[in-house]
This record gives sequence, C-alpha cells and structure tokens, in this order.
Amino acid sequence: MIYTKSESEIRLMREAGKLLHSVLSELREMIVPGVTTLEIDERAEKLIRAAGAVPSFKGYEGFPFSICASVDSEVVHGFPSSTALKEGQIVSIDCGCIINGWQSDSAFTAPVGRVSKEAEQLMRVTEECFWKGAQAARAGNRLGDIGWAVQQHAEQYGYGVIRDYCGHGIGREMHEDPSVPNYGKPGRGMRLQAGMTIAIEPMIALGTWKVFIQDNDWTAITRDNSVCSHYEHTVLVTDGDAEILSYPGKFAGGSQNG
Ligand code: MG
Ligand code: MG
Repeated sequence: MIYTKSESEIRLMREAGKLLHSVLSELREMIVPGVTTLEIDERAEKLIRAAGAVPSFKGYEGFPFSICASVDSEVVHGFPSSTALKEGQIVSIDCGCIINGWQSDSAFTAPVGRVSKEAEQLMRVTEECFWKGAQAARAGNRLGDIGWAVQQHAEQYGYGVIRDYCGHGIGREMHEDPSVPNYGKPGRGMRLQAGMTIAIEPMIALGTWKVFIQDNDWTAITRDNSVCSHYEHTVLVTDGDAEILSYPGKFAGGSQNG
C-alpha cells in the first residue's frame, strides 16, 4: 500500500527532516580518531529527545541503539561500541527520528582523520549515486529509473551495489512500501507519483556486493571484507525536482553532491 502525503503531512515530515539534519551535522563533527561510536550514539539520543522527538531506531524490532554505526567493511546496522575509532577508518552513521508521529531517516559516511584515496573516492561516488537516484525520483518516472541511475554510476567505478538492503517508503512508519532498490532497469517497476515520500540510500562497496550477517543478527559485513559506504536521505517526489526533506532547502536537480 502506497501512501501519498498531503501538504500538511509533508510539512510535518519537513520538521522531522530538519531536526535529523541538524543532529547528523553535530554527529559528523564528533568523528575524529579516539571517539567511540557509543559516545556518538549517546549524543544522538540526547539531541533528539531534547528537541521533543523520539529516536526511531531505538527499540525498532529490538535494535538497542539510536544510531547504526558501521565501520569499514560493515555495510549497515553496525552496533555502536566502546572501541575508539582509528585514523584511516570510515564510519557510516545512520539515524532516524519521529516528531508528532512523522518520520525521517538519513545516513552519511565520514572519514576518521586521513583515509586512503580509494576510501575517499568510494564515499564521494556513493553520495553522487544518491543524487543521481534522487534526480530520477520524479512523478511519471518508475522505481527502476532510480535503481538504474544508482547502479550505473557505481558500477562504472567497478564498485559493488549492495542488493540485500534497499531504500523504502517512509511516513508514519519508518519502513513503508515501496522498496527502493539501488539497482534496476529503466522504465520498469512502479510509477512514481507526486506526494510519495521515500528514503533513497545507496550502499556501495569497494568489492563484492555480497554480504553476511554477524552473530548479533543485525550487522551486515561485505563477504570479501572490502569497505562500504552508505548515504541516505528522506525524499519527497514531486512533478519537478525531488525535495530532500532531510536536507532543508535542498532539491535533487541543483546538485550532484551534498
Ligand atoms: Mg537509515
Ligand atoms: Mg532507511
């Protein structure tokens, strides 16, 4: 079941996106060698609750934290830990919040100190993949156009596009229909309509797209242990350029990188 959102519902989702953007901006500033992802998690929860909102990940199907913190070859759903981040690692921070019953979901990947040229490029291309996907997210296009845009861009660098996890509809629930894969064929899949709100979230690996799940039953890791980058925003489909709800004032048409 696809829910298109009314103007007043979109206004509420903008509020959630605005808060999440400011929280993630603060978390990004914390990423230096020596900090622990548990400290980042605690800060996230504090900031979200101080704004009168709720961290949507905490307790979601039993997930114990307010953020996912996925380091290097961890793809998604990494558990925050008390191990200090080290120079040269990359870390993905994924977070969501709920205000007045409406959700936002966003993720970014950042370097810990200085990182390799390969890791820098992977992070840059993953963000570019998001923007390519968001540019394809307009009314009249189809879901496959988004996936195709993401996949084409990543694969020209020889990167692996993670298949086991997808973007998703979002609104009152964090995960609504439809699934938004990061691969696909142009002109295929469901037709996009103005008022649909979706999370577009490319997960791109330096090597294989194949993953396995760790013993905690949550954290996905690349099978070849290659590093992986993740970039996500909550997006409103319109008849024109998609509006990036978790990046206030930003639209998909104007920019290739965030
Ligand atoms: Mg997310
Ligand atoms: Mg998501």
